[in-house]
Amino acid sequence: VATHLDTESIHEHVILRRGVRSGLPIVVAVHSTALGQAIGGCRLAHYPHWRDGLTDALRLSAAMSDKCALAGLPNGGGKTVIALPPGRTLDAATRRAVLHDAGDVIAGLDGTYATGPDVGTGPDDMVTIAERTPHAFCRPVQAGGSGDSSEHTAVGVLAALHALCAERFGSADLSTRSFAVLGLGRVGGHVLRILADAGATLVAADTDESRRTLADTAGAAWASPQDCLTADVDVLVPAALGGLLTSHTVPTLRCAAIAGPANNQLDTPATADLLHQHGILWAPDIIVSAGGIIHATAVELHRETFAQATARVHGIADTLTDILRTARAAGSTPAAAAHSRARHQIEHGRP
Ligand code: NAD
Repeated sequence: VATHLDTESIHEHVILRRGVRSGLPIVVAVHSTALGQAIGGCRLAHYPHWRDGLTDALRLSAAMSDKCALAGLPNGGGKTVIALPPGRTLDAATRRAVLHDAGDVIAGLDGTYATGPDVGTGPDDMVTIAERTPHAFCRPVQAGGSGDSSEHTAVGVLAALHALCAERFGSADLSTRSFAVLGLGRVGGHVLRILADAGATLVAADTDESRRTLADTAGAAWASPQDCLTADVDVLVPAALGGLLTSHTVPTLRCAAIAGPANNQLDTPATADLLHQHGILWAPDIIVSAGGIIHATAVELHRETFAQATARVHGIADTLTDILRTARAAGSTPAAAAHSRARHQIEHGRP
């Protein structure tokens, strides 16, 4: 039982609405606007109960606040969750209806929150939301947006891998290192190709067998997801779903370090301590995965040039280096150092 109120975890504004057109539950959680407009994608996913969608929105929007602060963005964290009942599929008309419902909720926030793509939604869905509110980013380029952000996310992952290797192995040279890339989707596929171009030794896996062609082209050994997770490599690159680092999986890992784009890699915050105890250097996913959001917000919300936005994405290397060194000096985990840095920045009102 909590004995005190943890004020930092209280959200500024949370709306739960039954969509007037779709009848589906929509949650929009605004965690913080201390640094500026809250941002965070629109997740359209199945949940056992809408309350689980609410819990996810609260957790994801709080993580977005840390992510934005560490990325140096003048933004806070928010999230939209459209919680589909188990097994429910959406026809085109209902999908459009629920996106309009979500757009109306966001419009009611008067610009304190802007959304973007997330699990289950893409750039085209942002066009639909934008029919109800201007506060939707990452629309396709032909519709005036900055489009799919996964390539920029991959560039950010590579910046992070350079920084991680320099700290863990004393050299940022990727050609002498081995990597296990778990998940060859939009981001993982790009990461694999760039690592192959850099001359790295690669193992790769995906639950979708059709992705094997990508691995073959990159000269990567193909493995089962389980073997990829526990591969004897320098660095594990989680690029599929979150929650893969747990008290059960960590003792089976044989990598020396981990950095990848997958969101919410740790099942609980305590798993960061377990990784530390096993001598595995974990780069916080909120830093590693920020390239897409950095690029999209820089171009669309803050009207920076492509070159300025790209330079910001490369800045992930400096941010990660700083956090890893701070953690080492303090004898803490990178996760703790990152969270404490983000809190400090939010409390002092500067990104
Ligand atoms: P995606 O859906 O394009 O790719 C995910 C891939 O992982 C798919 O090919 C899928 O088949 C595979 N996969 C699913 N479960 C797996 C498992 N158990 N083992 C192995 N492979 C599995 O998604 P994405 O856009 O490439 O994103 C990957 C991760 O990065 C996600 O966690 C996402 O939230 C995160 N992320 C993405 C972006 C972005 O710009 N796309 C930005 C930040 C974070």
